[in-house]
Amino acid sequence: MSLSLYEREKPIPPEEYVRVDYGSLKKWVKNVYIKLGLLKEHAEIVADVLTMADLMGISSHGVQRVSRYVTGIKLGTVNLRPKVRIVKDFGATALIDGDNGLGHPTALYAMNVAVSKAGKYGVSLVLVKNSHHFGIAGYYSLKAAEEGFIGMTVTNSEPLVAYTHTAERYLGTNPIAVAIPRRNPPPILFDAATSVVPVGKIELYSKIGKEVPPGWAIDLEGNILSGNAKGILKAIRERKAALLPLGGLGEELGGHKGSGLSMIIDVFSGVLSGAAWGWHVRHTISDRPANVGHAIAAVNIDAFMDKDVFFDRLEKFISEIKSLRKHPKAERIWIPGEKAWLTMQTRLKIGIPIHKAVLNELKRISNEVGIPFTVNIVREKAY
Ligand code: NDP
Repeated sequence: MSLSLYEREKPIPPEEYVRVDYGSLKKWVKNVYIKLGLLKEHAEIVADVLTMADLMGISSHGVQRVSRYVTGIKLGTVNLRPKVRIVKDFGATALIDGDNGLGHPTALYAMNVAVSKAGKYGVSLVLVKNSHHFGIAGYYSLKAAEEGFIGMTVTNSEPLVAYTHTAERYLGTNPIAVAIPRRNPPPILFDAATSVVPVGKIELYSKIGKEVPPGWAIDLEGNILSGNAKGILKAIRERKAALLPLGGLGEELGGHKGSGLSMIIDVFSGVLSGAAWGWHVRHTISDRPANVGHAIAAVNIDAFMDKDVFFDRLEKFISEIKSLRKHPKAERIWIPGEKAWLTMQTRLKIGIPIHKAVLNELKRISNEVGIPFTVNIVREKAY
């Protein structure tokens, strides 16, 4: 595949996937949530975040997650009409109460506040409490980059990860996403879970029948798990297994650094914001509101140097990395965000690959919710 048609996650085997067009997929997702009672503008944002993940090749957090929020809404743990508001304002900082609404509209609002404050004060930090899961953290950071600001987004999430030298779930997969604008797109976007993988990857593997490699999860005796994704997911959900922090088991390959990063994210997102932290954070599908917390920051480049000078320096920095001696086994040196960007361009052109098992799940949701399945299939197999 040429770089002009690049996908960071390859839909293989192609006959297990269909391709759907982005516009109809997004519209259908929006209709699902409107039908369930979400405000139209909130449904639009949730649909945008979920389908953006699929466009960027992050299918762990794409439409395979529609069902999670549908169930959360049906259970009544998600407030459909939240009054999201600033409860503390200190000039460059704000504390926002998400009123238990879905995390997507709340986090977007928080980033808008952060950008506006960074415009005025140079930098800003906005914390959010009483929120829910918000999907890909990069979505919000990219919004800042679109405005010419550096954006940073972190969040805590339900307890799934074993802190180094423990063998049970406590920390979330707590992602960090930083987006840095460049003179021309794509912006730099580093967006990663602080666990070896996000749990969404195991969810997806369990739906499409892929095996989990060794190194992602351990059981309560500390044994490394591998193989059947359904079984491992079940064990994690039943608190009989846990994901490993970034760097893996123990200290040898830096697992303690993943744990440390995750812990710091939880101090900002949970402890300092007034939200829940560690194992007090709830899943969207729960009997109580999740009380997820986020920390969102923006940096005004003009507060430090002329933007043109910054862009020149950044391009020089990137070109130095690109011209480093390449590992003999590597095809190319990548800057974070490039693969996602190329995937997005490709999928806007030829459609988004959806595994047939996920497609069936979406059709089932359509039936359950009582809306027509209007997603347009543009190819019956991926290639
Ligand atoms: P990945 O491991 O897929 O990617 C992490 C980052 O590394 C990306 O920015 C990626 O850029 C970059 N990258 C990939 N390959 C290279 C390379 N060769 N050189 C340089 N950079 C590279 O991400 P995760 O699986 O950890 O996370 C997936 C998503 O899950 C994220 O969007 C995250 O926000 C979300 N998440 C959300 C949670 C929540 O509670 N809301 C919890 C945990 C995760 P590129 O995209 O261009 O490949």
